[in-house]
Amino acid sequence: MYRLFLIIFLLVVLYFLLRQMFRSVTGPSRVDRSISSDSAERDKEQDQMVEDPVCHTFVPKRIAVIEQMGGQTYCFCSEECAVTFRSRRPV
Ligand SMILES: [Zn+2]
Repeated sequence: MYRLFLIIFLLVVLYFLLRQMFRSVTGPSRVDRSISSDSAERDKEQDQMVEDPVCHTFVPKRIAVIEQMGGQTYCFCSEECAVTFRSRRPV
């Protein structure tokens, strides 16, 4: 019986957490984005074109698959290329 109460309690907490998260996404953060120059700077960086070391396609960093390997950062056009690169690379 106590277990049931615990589950209900957890669900209620989860519901409130989710609602708060949803609110912070749709609510004031939209205003912050237009004001903060820091995020605009980040947006610019996200638009940067990066070369895929596997198929040599240039993709915007925003949509690239980014992998950290041996202290280096690699950007791939897709998860497929990341897997190919990983399998090629001797570890
Ligand atoms: Zn690729």
